Amino acid sequence: MNGGLKGLEKILYGVKRGKAMLIVQKYGGTSVANLERIRAVAERIVNYKKEGHDLVVVVSAMAGETDRLINLAKQITENPPLREFDLLVSTGEQVSSALLSITLQSMGYPSIALLGYQVPIYTTDLFTKARIKEIKTEKIKESLSKGKIVIIAGFQGVTENGDITTLGRGGSDTTAVALAAALKADLCEIYTDVEGVFTADPRIVTNARKLKKISYEEMLEMASSGAKVLEMRSVELAMIYKVPLVVRSSFTNSEGTLITEEDEEMEKVLVSGITYNRNEARISIYGVPDKPGVAAKIFGPIGDKGIVVDMIIQTARPDGKADITFTVPKTDYKEALKLIEEIGKQLEAERIEGDPNIAKVSIVGAGMRTHPGVATKMFETLAKHSINIMMISTSEIKVSCVIDEKYTELAVRALHEAFKLENENSIKEEI
Ligand code: ASP
Ligand code: MG
Repeated sequence: MNGGLKGLEKILYGVKRGKAMLIVQKYGGTSVANLERIRAVAERIVNYKKEGHDLVVVVSAMAGETDRLINLAKQITENPPLREFDLLVSTGEQVSSALLSITLQSMGYPSIALLGYQVPIYTTDLFTKARIKEIKTEKIKESLSKGKIVIIAGFQGVTENGDITTLGRGGSDTTAVALAAALKADLCEIYTDVEGVFTADPRIVTNARKLKKISYEEMLEMASSGAKVLEMRSVELAMIYKVPLVVRSSFTNSEGTLITEEDEEMEKVLVSGITYNRNEARISIYGVPDKPGVAAKIFGPIGDKGIVVDMIIQTARPDGKADITFTVPKTDYKEALKLIEEIGKQLEAERIEGDPNIAKVSIVGAGMRTHPGVATKMFETLAKHSINIMMISTSEIKVSCVIDEKYTELAVRALHEAFKLENENSIKEEI
């Protein structure tokens, strides 16, 4: 059996059991890649429906379709007009939502497919990165009350002026969580092609373990530091609106990972996961004046270009000058370096250096808040493998180190082993 209450009950942990629920499901591109896959998804949905649940189903475009559409526009011009670009790339979800609804109705199950503007899902007018402002739920609720399965095209919305917008790559996750919040759904399931959230990327660490549950905050830190399973914004929304979120595979009946509020059990876990990100580059500016206003002069123009700076380190030197090192996304590296070279001249900096071959390796765990020594263990582990740490940054529940890109795999494996993440129980021991 595909899904249905048996599978569902197992994953519900703290969530209401046994009674009819309102469930928002989201199926990613690989889950609806072809008609066969769409049929499998429809069967899963029907199994839930048979158990008496109300279903709102968000779909991504069929795998590869969004990339194909983007590529078409880029063949015409490097900078397509953004309104028309959104009109184009949003069509992938129109196709998949209609196909799923046709499939369900051909199986005898009443359904209705709705595009963003038909719901409507109102967004800001920032094309290609619009943010959801409001979701009108009346039409969805009316269709549910008529016993219909409601299919909604992910990734898209509409402005108050009636222009179609998209929410940014991976935005269907956000559509699903925002709908779950607006509808006060009992559960939001994100179906993908991996079985859940792992202690590390299973392609690098063969004994990486699937987590049964993880807190919103840990998931947010993992998503921001390289874990690709969920789009970051969707986790933020889930955390704000306390939407119980499950990440699971549409290819198996495996239970998935529950993302929920932190509990005592989670606090005992020192490290929940190791992540890595190879998409950043480092820029250093040496010997700038150490006085008020200099940092603003350096980072102002970078921010104005919409370049997001991640880590920043400033070192004061005995000679009254300062060195500043920071990281930016690799895609913005060249532009940021050019800007810094100009600013460096104005500030009479001694030297500017850039390095695109870096990686950021992070350990994330709610238990760090209350257990000292976790960061030290990370540094010792990297040292034992002769991996030099170029930069360090921390939050309450995360420690990140920037290292030479070529040691990424080695670092992730070594840390996974040092924190004994392959074993569910041993990580709860004091270190
Ligand atoms: N189809 C869109 C993309 O590929 C949105 C999504 O799948 O979440 O980015
Ligand atoms: Mg995705």
